[in-house]
Amino acid sequence: MNNASNPYVNAQTQFDTVAEAMSLDMSMREYLRVSAREFVFSIPVKMDDGTTKTYMGFRIQHNNARGPSKGGIRFHPDETLDTVRALAMWMTWKSAVVDIPLGGGKGGIACDPRTMSMGEQERMCRGYVRQLSSTIGPLIDIPAPDMMSSAQHMLWMLDEYETIMRAHYPGVITGKPVGMGGSLGRAEATGYGVMYTLVEALRLRGDSVKGKTASLQGFGAVGEHAARKFEELGGIVTAVSCWDNNDKKAYTFKKKGGLDINALAAAKDAYRDIDKEKARDIGCDILPGDAWLSEEADILIPAAQENEITTKNLDSINKSVRVICEAANGPTTPEADPLILAKDIMIIPDFLCNAGGVTCSYFEQVQGNMNYFWGKSEVLIKLETAMTAACTAVCELAEEKKVPLRDAAYMISIQRVADAVKMRGWV
Ligand code: NAD
Repeated sequence: MNNASNPYVNAQTQFDTVAEAMSLDMSMREYLRVSAREFVFSIPVKMDDGTTKTYMGFRIQHNNARGPSKGGIRFHPDETLDTVRALAMWMTWKSAVVDIPLGGGKGGIACDPRTMSMGEQERMCRGYVRQLSSTIGPLIDIPAPDMMSSAQHMLWMLDEYETIMRAHYPGVITGKPVGMGGSLGRAEATGYGVMYTLVEALRLRGDSVKGKTASLQGFGAVGEHAARKFEELGGIVTAVSCWDNNDKKAYTFKKKGGLDINALAAAKDAYRDIDKEKARDIGCDILPGDAWLSEEADILIPAAQENEITTKNLDSINKSVRVICEAANGPTTPEADPLILAKDIMIIPDFLCNAGGVTCSYFEQVQGNMNYFWGKSEVLIKLETAMTAACTAVCELAEEKKVPLRDAAYMISIQRVADAVKMRGWV
């Protein structure tokens, strides 16, 4: 992986730039730009055919000054240590920008669950937790789902942890199934959160979602619910780019007058990929995977993976685009960032835009601790309030300092985390 596409280098570059602008103490910079603890390990898994396959596992705890480290576990064949390091660092800023008492962490397994049976996946999840049982915990580090991991994976992990600890510890993992300690609204939380920030950022400019068009990349846990909320708010989703696991490539699905989100969701498989033939059956035009970027739309919503908008492809962004909602983590490279802003496109930065997931995970913990669960509308009202307040604060600081939203969000988060580190006397 070269530096230009290394998400950890990107995360550190973003941090260094804002730390410099804030004149942050050099010792604090040195401490905050690296992980606090890193775990890299192998997970031997007995496969159904009797062989044993070894998967690489990662868990990174970037910072826990404001509370236990918190962050998802991503399953991806191309998972790397540096990707997980970057995601862990972004989690620290994410928890801080929404002002919840959690730090930042992230995990991953280099695997492709699409090629594994349920039994193999269960053994891999349990093996992951056996390697980490002494380093995660409700008061230490709390995993959650991410790309290609699900509520079922979280429950296997919870069960393995509780078996090892010989007691119930529902707070060790979030994103559990509803009825097994999960929160209503968690499935929708990240995608809806993306929309709550968009609504607020537009409102502050005297604008709204109604009548706007959007083009998305990714139609998974985040993308689908962002699309649904966008539609509910009066927007029209014109195009969605998504992976097709049969062809092992991405396509952009498009329909004149707007996509039918329910019908498109019905064309998805268990790993949130879209079957191109099913999409054709519901009347979608099938375009190349990267066509979502050049689609005529007011809003672009990258909701797949990092490094999707770069200096190499940003010129294909359609002139109609006014806002990029970074629903994915790290979708825009630091080099592309200023060039996009120069096109007068507002970027709602990832760790603010997609903080709905961790906010709802925090709500899941609160409910679990009380052993009293809220109704879905109560969860979503609390989520909207938290996301809107965070977005307002970022937009107001950006206006005051005359800086992009990303820099303002970093300033708020870095200051909160640095204050906590300082008060603890670590630096
Ligand atoms: P997911 O596994 O549910 O869905 C990923 C989607 O992206 C799928 O629809 C897949 O087909 C599509 N995809 C993958 N590669 C693609 C490509 N090259 N081109 C087009 N589409 C592609 O994952 P998710 O949970 O929705 O996560 C998406 C992003 O959001 C990730 O960056 C993740 O870290 C971030 N995120 C997720 C959450 C959460 O709560 N799940 C929270 C915050 C941030």
